Amino acid sequence: MLMQTRNVKWLEGAVMRLFNGPCPVCGGKQFDFLPVLWLDLITFWQLSKDEVDYINRQQGFFCCECRNNLRAMALAKAILITQEYSGTLREFCGNGTTLRTLEINTAGHLSTILSKLSGYKLITFPQFDLMDLRIESENFDIVIHSDCLEHVEFPVKALSECRRVLRDSGFCIFTIPIIVGRMTRSRHGLPSSYHGQAGNVASDMLVHTEFGSDFWHAVLLAGFSVCEIVALEFPSGLAIIARK
Ligand SMILES: [Zn+2]
Repeated sequence: MLMQTRNVKWLEGAVMRLFNGPCPVCGGKQFDFLPVLWLDLITFWQLSKDEVDYINRQQGFFCCECRNNLRAMALAKAILITQEYSGTLREFCGNGTTLRTLEINTAGHLSTILSKLSGYKLITFPQFDLMDLRIESENFDIVIHSDCLEHVEFPVKALSECRRVLRDSGFCIFTIPIIVGRMTRSRHGLPSSYHGQAGNVASDMLVHTEFGSDFWHAVLLAGFSVCEIVALEFPSGLAIIARK
């Protein structure tokens, strides 16, 4: 599953490791896989065979116990890293932990687990707009979202809003689909492309941005001081930690 790039010579020696558990959300050890991409999306996104394989795995490889897919498991791992916690997310959240947590649009199947945190708040579109949250500044320890930024018109503005509502040294922890062998492009002026499922043309599933390996520009341009990548699996299981 080594990604295609124009010149892979410098990547020789890579150690590719497929994630095989245990699940960082629940500790589960049974996994299953259902590919999710369809022809129109693959065509509009101009994905190569390798890219199809790793995006399918990111979205379609899931834990049989908690039903979270690879990207949600990567997100959970990133949350645990920021909290320096070695157990599962379920254990962390079930310990009566106080962590002022803002989840924006439900992140996989993590909401029921995160909601056990004291200080948890969930906000969803369209009541709340990621680019203009209209909630109090500097109020949260962590902000979480998963595969949302590609659907907003101005992702840097959205990340700036996440930064605004974080306390000093707080973390915005998120996932986006990243095609690691190319640069980010806007779909402005290109045919409309939608995520979700085949035939879905809901406006909140419209893709504005296809992220590539320069995604970190958006994080730093939004004012964050640190941008880290958590690789549960590369390149299919990446989560991003942005530190205020
Ligand atoms: Zn699980």
